[in-house]
Amino acid sequence: MTAGAGTAPDVVIAGGGVIGCATAYFLAAEHGLRCVVIERDAIASGASGGAAGELGALGRHHFSEAYTRFILRGIELHNDLAPALRDESGVDYLLREVPLLRPALDEREAHELQEQVPWARGLGIDVEWLDAEAVRALGTWLTPEAAGATSTMELQLEAYPFALAVAQAAEHHGVEIRSGEVTGVLREGDRAVGVRIGGEELAAGAVLIATGPWAVHAAAWMGVEVPVSPLRGQIVHLAPPEGLAMPEHAISHGTGYLLPKAGGDLLAGTTQELAGFDAQPTAEAQNKIMEAAVRLAPALIDAPIRSLTACLRPSTPDGLPMIGAVDGWRDLFLSTGHGFKGVTLALISGRSLAQLMTGGTPDVALDDYAPARHFEAP
Ligand SMILES: Cc1cc2nc3c(=O)[nH]c(=O)nc-3n(C[C@H](O)[C@H](O)[C@H](O)COP(=O)(O)OP(=O)(O)OC[C@H]3O[C@@H](n4cnc5c(N)ncnc54)[C@H](O)[C@@H]3O)c2cc1C
Repeated sequence: MTAGAGTAPDVVIAGGGVIGCATAYFLAAEHGLRCVVIERDAIASGASGGAAGELGALGRHHFSEAYTRFILRGIELHNDLAPALRDESGVDYLLREVPLLRPALDEREAHELQEQVPWARGLGIDVEWLDAEAVRALGTWLTPEAAGATSTMELQLEAYPFALAVAQAAEHHGVEIRSGEVTGVLREGDRAVGVRIGGEELAAGAVLIATGPWAVHAAAWMGVEVPVSPLRGQIVHLAPPEGLAMPEHAISHGTGYLLPKAGGDLLAGTTQELAGFDAQPTAEAQNKIMEAAVRLAPALIDAPIRSLTACLRPSTPDGLPMIGAVDGWRDLFLSTGHGFKGVTLALISGRSLAQLMTGGTPDVALDDYAPARHFEAP
């Protein structure tokens, strides 16, 4: 990677979501580089601020073993770095462990979940299978119809404060965050030498595009296809029904989940919708989410709705992120497509990419996530 000439930053990063900010944090804190993050709206104004903030490696997505290990390294790094991020930013983003149940609602699901247990344990995940009676004995909100459930402890945090903490910790290490919309990459020969921000140009030693689902627009700047698309997800923010305390257990089933949050909301999610870049919540989604939530936890029938939020996951055709160098260029990098797991992966993805950009060996090999696997000449 080329250093910035004179007063120019070493790296300019388009996108102030959790991925752009985390990568800036590691480039500055661990490699001493001068970074500028350009955000066109507000820090974490996209999915990074609207996410549920659950940091689990299991779930409905049937991730591969390699990707699950990447996620587990991400969770480990959340634990390791939380004290430093809190100290450097002054933001407490309420990282804590919560017991999570994944119920089976029929015998087929019970069989599938039980089959996952040895696989997950083999990866070091502490998970156990509870039969119907053991689940009922916990006294949770889970429907008594559950045929059993797996039980794990999972980390969770408040997504917007976390993204803010990463951004402010990055600023603590000298990262500059500027308002502006990146509209192009400056090229000299085969090198990226900065970005265009509206009518202005900002020179830099290297460029990172971390604009979440909007990275699809960077295809035109880079001359390669970026098959990332927005996958809308909505969350209903509830209060516990009157007279009931916040439940202790989180519950997750299919696309439905119920998460008690330290911030005071009970989150019911979610949807997976192809609606272009429309990030407006809809009454239809609220109904669908609440129907599924009440099926999982009948007590929710009387839960007051506080708000409904929607945001856009950056999604790729193979469900894996695109992290690494852009083929055909020197000093141009891309990090997007973190899909359902961007908050969980932010730190490990940012640290590994910073190591790759600076010529080191990444903590986690990024070969499986190389953007080139998707590139086609436009
Ligand atoms: C409903 C929902 C729940 C989720 N829950 C979880 C969860 O529990 N756990 C988990 O790990 N993940 C979760 N996710 C996924 C996670 O939120 C995303 O993977 C992650 O936030 C993506 O981060 P990002 O920085 O790549 O993108 P974004 O957060 O979208 O950030 C991109 C930023 O780039 C800016 N930008 C775009 N274009 C430009 C430009 N041209 N110039 C300058 N700035 C630009 C945008 O304004 C935006 O701020 C959830 C997602 C959704 C939708």
